[in-house]
Formats: sequence, C-alpha cells, structure tokens
Amino acid sequence: MLERITELPFIGARRAALLTRELGIRTVSDLLYYVPFRYTDRTRVYKIDELTESITSQIQVRARLQDFRSEGVGAKARLVGMFNDGTATAEVVWFKSAKWIEKSLERGREYLIFGKPQIFNGRISFVHPEIDLTERLVGRPQGGLQGVYSTTEVLSAAHITTRTISSFIAEGWKYVASAIKETLPEDLLAKLKLMPLREALYNIHFPSGQEALKQAQYRLKFEELLGIQLVVLSTRATRTTASDGFLFPRVGERFNALYDSLPFPLTAAQKRVIKEIRRDTISGHQMNRLLQGDVGSGKTLVALLTMLLSADNGYQSCIMAPTEILARQHYASIGKMLGEGSAIKIAVLTGATKTKERKEILEQLAEGEIDILVGTHALLEERVQFANLAMVVIDEQHRFGVEQRSRLWTKNLQPPHILVMTATPIPRTLAMTLYGDLDVSVIDELPPGRKPIMTYHWFDNVRLKLYGFMKRQIEAGRQIYVVYPLIKESESMDYKNLISGYEEIVTYFPEPQYNIVAVHGRLSSVEKQAGMEEFASGRAQIMVATSVIEVGVDIPNATVMVIESAERFGLSQLHQLRGRVGRGGEQSYSILMSSEKLSREARARLKAMVDTNDGFRLSELDMKLRGTGDISGTAQSGEGFNMRIASLSRDGAILTAARRVASHILSADPTLTTPANALLVALRSRSHKSQIDFSMIS
Ligand code: ADP
Ligand code: MG
Repeated sequence: MLERITELPFIGARRAALLTRELGIRTVSDLLYYVPFRYTDRTRVYKIDELTESITSQIQVRARLQDFRSEGVGAKARLVGMFNDGTATAEVVWFKSAKWIEKSLERGREYLIFGKPQIFNGRISFVHPEIDLTERLVGRPQGGLQGVYSTTEVLSAAHITTRTISSFIAEGWKYVASAIKETLPEDLLAKLKLMPLREALYNIHFPSGQEALKQAQYRLKFEELLGIQLVVLSTRATRTTASDGFLFPRVGERFNALYDSLPFPLTAAQKRVIKEIRRDTISGHQMNRLLQGDVGSGKTLVALLTMLLSADNGYQSCIMAPTEILARQHYASIGKMLGEGSAIKIAVLTGATKTKERKEILEQLAEGEIDILVGTHALLEERVQFANLAMVVIDEQHRFGVEQRSRLWTKNLQPPHILVMTATPIPRTLAMTLYGDLDVSVIDELPPGRKPIMTYHWFDNVRLKLYGFMKRQIEAGRQIYVVYPLIKESESMDYKNLISGYEEIVTYFPEPQYNIVAVHGRLSSVEKQAGMEEFASGRAQIMVATSVIEVGVDIPNATVMVIESAERFGLSQLHQLRGRVGRGGEQSYSILMSSEKLSREARARLKAMVDTNDGFRLSELDMKLRGTGDISGTAQSGEGFNMRIASLSRDGAILTAARRVASHILSADPTLTTPANALLVALRSRSHKSQIDFSMIS
C-alpha cells in the first residue's frame, strides 16, 4: 500500500506539504481518516424560481452561465455571474480571488451551484457558493450526502477547499482501497454487526445514504474508543495486579499533630476520602486516585494529611500546581497549617526559583532532607531527583492522560502513589477515558456554615450600579476581585481592556481611601507575588486580575467576584472563578458582566451560572453546549489520546459500549495473547499517545 500522500500522482509536492502542515495529513491513511465534520444533503436540485426567503440552508441549482462582469472598485470589487436555468436568473458574487475565478468561468456552460441563496429586492444571489461544471461531476462519487471537511485559511488561499479534499480522497481511493485490511477481529465484527473497515471508510466519505453513514460512523468511532478502553483498562489491570506499591502502615505523629490541631472537624466526606487513601496505601498496590470536589470543599487539607502519612512512614512527597502563584500559595498555606516548629521540612520549587536556591533544594531533596516539595511542572525536570518519593499530588487542571501519568515518575523504580485533585467535576465520558484507569473519590459536601454564592448577570450599561455595590461591600469590610479574560490569540487586546478597566476603577475608587492592585501576566513573578500579598493581607480592597487567579486562591474575606466579559469564559472557568469567593462565613456574590450582544450559547452559559452553584450540573451542561458546536469543541476532549473521529461529548453511548466490550475481552484474555486477539494488540498500541505533550500542562 502507498504510504505517503506524496506518492499519489495527483497530489503535487506543494499541496502535499500544505496538507501536512495545515491538517497533519502525512500518510494516505491520515487522508482516509480525515473525515467530514458534517454532511450536506445534495439529493435535490432546486429550480431558481422555487427559491424563497424561507430557505435558510445551503441548496443546489443547476444553471447555465449567461454572462459575467466585474463591478465596484477597491474593497468592494467583485465578480458577478448571471446564471439561468430556464425558470429564472440568479447572480453569483465573488469578492475574493475574483481574477482566478474569472479565468476559469466559461459562458454558455452548465454549472452546479451549491450555497445559501440570498434574496434581496426580488433578486436572487449566491455569495461564494461551491460551483462546478456539471459535466466534470460525472463519474465522481455523488451520493445525496456530501461530506464537508474542515480546512484552514491557508488552505483556502491555496484553493484547497473541502471539495478538493473530497476529490483527493475519491481519487486516492482507487489506489488504496484493495489494500485496506480489516483491523477488528472477525468474530467481534459479526457479534456486534459492525460494518467492515473498507466499507466504513468509503461510506464515511461518500455515504450511500443516511443509514450507511450512521453505520460507518458507528464502526469507526467504536473502534477508536475500543482502542482507548483497552489502553485504560489494561493499565489499570497491570497496576492492580502488580505488588509494587509503597506501604504506609503507620499513622504517626506528623499526621496526628495536624489532625489534632485543626480548628474545625473534618467533614464526613473528607474523612471518607482519607479512609479510602489509607486503604490504598496499605494494599501493596500503587494508588492512582482521582479526588473530585467542588472549589472550597477542602481538598488541599486532604492532600496535606496524605503527604503527612507519607512522611510518617519515612517517605517524601510532592504537590504539583499548575501556576507559579498557586504553587507559592500552597507553600504558604501548608506552612501555616503545619505551624511554627513543625518537624516537617517543606520547600517550593518553580521555574522562577533562583539558581543558588534551586541548587540547595535539589541537594536536600536528593539527600532526603525535604519531606514535602511544592512546585509547578518544574518538578518534572530530569534534574529534580528525590531520595524516596512515595506520594505525588497533582492539583487542579492538569489534564494528564493515562500514558503521561504513568510515565511522569520515571524518577523512581517503584511507582509513587498518585493523587490527582480536580475542582472541575469531570463529565462521565471524560472520566472513563482520560481518567479511566483511576479510582475516584468524591468530596460531595462543603464545610458547614458556608452560604451559597449569589450570582447575577448584568449588562455593561449598569456599570454605575456595579460600582455602587462594590463600594457598599468595601464599606462592610469586604474585598473584591475583578477578573478580565485572557485569551492567547488576542492577548494584547485583553491586556488593554484590563488596563483601561483598572484605570476606570481607580477613578471611581480613588486613593488614599482605596487601594487597588492589578495582577496580570506582564508582571514579573516578584511583582505578581507582591500584588497577591497586598490583597491577601487585606491592605488592598480590590484586585484587578486576569484569569491567572483562576485556581486555588484562598482569601476568605473576599466576597465579590466580578467577571468582566463573562461571555468569553467557558462554564468551568466561570465556576472556578466564582469559587474564589464564598470561602468565609459572609454572604458572597459573583457578578457576571457582559455586553448585550450574546450568542445563544453564551446566554445559556451565563444563565446556567445564575441558576446553579452545582459544579456537576454545570459540567454536564458544559459538555452539552460544547457538543453542539462542530469540531472546535472536541479539540480538548481527546486529551491524551489520538481521537480523530469520536467525540467525548457526543458519543457517550458508544463509549459505554466500547468499555463494556473491552472489559469483557480483557477478563477473558487479560494479556491479549490469544491469536484471535492479535488485531486488538495492534489496536491498543495504536491508541497510545506516544509523546508526553507538555503543552497540556497549563
Ligand atoms: P479546595 O482546594 O477544595 O478548593 P481548600 O482546601 O482550599 O479547598 O479549602 C478551602 C477552605 O476551607 C480553606 O480555608 C480550608 O482551611 C477550609 N476548610 C477545609 N476543610 C474544612 C473543614 N472541614 N471545615 C471548615 N473549613 C475547612
Ligand atoms: Mg484548592
């Protein structure tokens, strides 16, 4: 079989390079697995005189080109073609690439035009439709359903459109079809009535009908998810049968010292989780546990008690946080909880740690003098070597995949116990894949005495009301966060918004009566730290910040979270931010500011925030909302795995089926050694993501 797309005679070197760079399509197999993200139904050809305003989707007409001409100048320059199909005339308008199109148009010939008709003053027009000479379409797979492929701006500029891709696949098919080998065992195909691979690949590109498309999609998604489940469940099986877990038989003085000195009793949920962890750490197997608990539910305390357990048994531990600020916060709050004169030695290591200090820490770490190391992903570096690391806590947001997690700690021969903590409840589908090899603990109650946060959604035109509200809260002795979005693509715009917001707030809240700090990504970490401290100490009443404060900041006296341009945040991010308040006994508020022009989805997000404080409900809803978009929402959902076709938000039912099948297969043949399962071994290894992707570590 042909390997590279460059070996296909109809794809030149230049276009092949573009496909590789823009879409990651390198091999013929990549091309075949580059599947449409939606389909248009082109069964019907409309007559032009049938077109009315009520048609709001793309349709097709077949008409002859009568004439064309250039109109307008400069930015308005356009090419207009007049097409007639015997019933009426329609115009086709091109604004861009007019020259190139003009050259290709032929008067008097019949074209198939596909697009959304616009009707204005009785004139019917199509702007930038797909257009083909009818005769050229002969012999191409036509079917009623046509796949639409996602492309990029660079590709469109090079005239590689969804149709080009479709024709590459159609042409390529002739060269490779006979070489496509079945990848699932015969008996599995038969038992589950799955479409054979070759047929499925053909039908996903050129469906012969709705039913064939459905079956093709099911087959390909099922296979993909089955591969992932085989990885996840095998990993889990290996772990729970191996006997290489560190043993923590002793609950000693370090654990007890903290436990006995707590100013409050643990919640029942916290106690339960500690019991679960205790059980894991005397089992002889490596613990891999996911701890889910809403913001403010007291996960950090559970983590600390766990690390003290490790210390009581003579081992080191570490806790890894996603940001520098959060790592330093953890360091400070752990120090505070342990109190003066604690026998525990803690240290903090981040990318910003000075060389000399780093050297000292690394030495003490290797000597076993440090009990608990707090840090960012700087902890992952090769040079960070522990004497006897037995417990790793990964805090918030690190969406490490299965493979990454198992490879993270090559530092030890013996795998340390791992506790992954998250405040963003993970939708079931994601939990089954990304975290599918973990045991799960849930903290499902907040410490007593917390008042539910009240959430409001206000439009930008009531800014004075907002400032009035803020003033009253400050008079009552409270503190306030004002958060601005920070999106990579428009970072400098966001920065400008933050600065102008800050300046406006300073005018309304003048010194010396008020003290306002700004914390954002352009500050050095020393400056950031100073700003945080100014606020944490209560000297500043308002902190204007980017979403860097998103996770973990713990300032109980802060009771108001104002989120600017709230429509630009995702639901889980909004929920995280809101969780920064409501940490003390006072009534807290979250105010979502947005413009009045909102997409339907943004409106739904903000409404959900106002309606509920329940992170689990929000996370389910989040999946639903994002699932309705086309492919954009799925980018992050396959984290840790090669997912090309299935989507975790839409294919929950297939995932469940795949998991059941995988578990069935593995229980009969745990190591997949029977010849009948040979294909599954290959499937499983294809499903591993081979590299640790450090970009995932936010
Ligand atoms: P999380 O990490 O889950 O968001 P934290 O561990 O930061 O939550 O805890 C939030 C706050 O609640 C902290 O100030 C912590 O000291 C406090 N806290 C934790 N457990 C309890 C408890 N059982 N009773 C009262 N307060 C608690
Ligand atoms: Mg926390």
